[in-house]
Amino acid sequence: MAIDLHVHSTASDGVLRPRDVVRLAWQNGVQTLSLTDHDTVAGLAEAAKEAKALGIRFINGSELSVTWGRRTIHVVALAPKNLEMFECMSRERGRLREERARLMGERFERFGIYGMFNEAMAIAGNALNLSRRHFALALLHRGEIQDENEAFTRYLSDTGPCFVPTQWFTLPEVMQFIADAGAEAVLAHPGRYSFDEPSQNITLLKEFQALGGRVIEVTTGSHFAADNARYTQLAVNMGFWASTGSDFHGHRPGRPAPGLQQPLPTYLPTVLDLLKTKE
Ligand code: AMP
Ligand code: MN
Ligand code: MN
Ligand code: MN
Repeated sequence: MAIDLHVHSTASDGVLRPRDVVRLAWQNGVQTLSLTDHDTVAGLAEAAKEAKALGIRFINGSELSVTWGRRTIHVVALAPKNLEMFECMSRERGRLREERARLMGERFERFGIYGMFNEAMAIAGNALNLSRRHFALALLHRGEIQDENEAFTRYLSDTGPCFVPTQWFTLPEVMQFIADAGAEAVLAHPGRYSFDEPSQNITLLKEFQALGGRVIEVTTGSHFAADNARYTQLAVNMGFWASTGSDFHGHRPGRPAPGLQQPLPTYLPTVLDLLKTKE
């Protein structure tokens, strides 16, 4: 049974409408799907409706931005009981995104690259969900870069010259928020964070666990195969339940389509087992 508990739509920085992502996942054989747009729940109603029409299980979700030290990390919240808390948080986050994007637009002017705010905005369709990826796509359009990754290595990474940091949730705050909303916290793509010290990946897992985190993404489209193997082992050793997702944003070279990420090893207890105990 194919499962995908991490995909994006136009409600954040994905390229397909919520209903089209659901349809694509269904075409790929996905039976259980969660839409996890960044800091928003705006796409969930449309996605849930399409999933119902197609007869697949849909789980509400959102991928929350977290500031951990000087880095941005992501925690996915699955199956909230209180969606209103997310709607409220999402309005606030939208304002932060717009403010940050205007400042990032100004940073690009220092490099002689003008009009980036408006162009990123035209791609996003809405200032409230503007993400760094929209800036990367705008640079790609203009031919300033060869691929999205280059946008991050040159301008947009957490330490890049055009990145403007935002204070998102701290890790304790996000865990409290998720618990209060009756959702399950999932540490997203733990192998993707490249910290200055490799030991910080383990520190992050330990902190997440100490704050009540029970689930980590083990196989994801945002990991290399070696990360999938490493986090399988870490999930076993540290006693985490496992989640899996493509982290699909739109067709991108080397990234899996919905449901086509490496499946979880069958012996791992999954977040779906855990959610069953909460029903
Ligand atoms: P933001 O939420 O505005 O901080 O933007 C982060 C988004 O940028 C992530 O959700 C990814 O979609 C994208 N992203 C981050 N790092 C990279 C990278 N190295 N290459 C391509 N896309 C990236
Ligand atoms: Mn994204
Ligand atoms: Mn992410
Ligand atoms: Mn994601």
